[in-house]
Amino acid sequence: MKKVPWFVSLHGGHSSDYCDHASDTLLDMIQAAVDRGMTTFGISEHAPRFEAHYLYPEEVAMGWTIAKIQEDFERYARESREFVARHARQIELLRAFEIEVAPRSAYVDRMKSLRQQHGFDYIVGSVHYVNDRLFDHRDLFGDVVRFMGGLEKLVLAYYEQLAEMVSALRPEVVAHLDVYRKYAGNAPELESSAVKTAAEHALDAVQQCGSILDVNTGAYRKGLDTPYPAPWLIHAAHNRGIPFCFGDDSHCCADVGSGIARARDYLVELGVRHICVLTRSKEGISRKEVPLA
Ligand SMILES: [Zn+2]
Ligand SMILES: [Zn+2]
Repeated sequence: MKKVPWFVSLHGGHSSDYCDHASDTLLDMIQAAVDRGMTTFGISEHAPRFEAHYLYPEEVAMGWTIAKIQEDFERYARESREFVARHARQIELLRAFEIEVAPRSAYVDRMKSLRQQHGFDYIVGSVHYVNDRLFDHRDLFGDVVRFMGGLEKLVLAYYEQLAEMVSALRPEVVAHLDVYRKYAGNAPELESSAVKTAAEHALDAVQQCGSILDVNTGAYRKGLDTPYPAPWLIHAAHNRGIPFCFGDDSHCCADVGSGIARARDYLVELGVRHICVLTRSKEGISRKEVPLA
């Protein structure tokens, strides 16, 4: 099979081995990436949470505890290292994890120490919590909107906390920039002038830290017309020289590589000619520019 150089994902590989809401094993998902001809598959399991009230309702219902999810994550850190070696001839597999901004007062040191302790190749910077409340959840989104005093206030706080996170952790990849669209639909306040200013401020932080923006195809599976981020954010990022990469945000084999060809057309239409891919080199993890044509 001739490999297409832009057929890559730097965010995904969430698997049922270590995550309550994923549904295939990591080995099966890696095999799917190999079979579909992906060139780079960056796996980025969710960071564990450190306090019981951050457990998801589904985890609580299954009787999961903080100790269990922390052990699962340690196993992920160990086993993923083996899988990199085992698949080295077939695919460039990179080891990462998706951070959590929770609790807001203590996540920075915890995420830094997880990274160091397990020698991950890179981190994916995500914001799923605002003011310590999980909004990226079907059953909880409405409560957080109410708690924050409206959708626009939630989005403004989101961008403020995202800018803070990017400056504090300097993640190589910033995930699904406007992920709040998942449950907010096309509400007009999502593009208000206050939101645009807050988003641009967050993009300034992304640019200063040299992070890559995840063009995340999970949005297609949620029924949205575009990946995250929306066109106006792609333009604002591209004008700042911020590079892009793809993320399939896969949580099962069917998700692996899904939507990436469509997202490539989306970027090309918006005037983006290259993506930026991480790769292993003698000096550690470096970047390479890959043309989309
Ligand atoms: Zn997930
Ligand atoms: Zn995420």
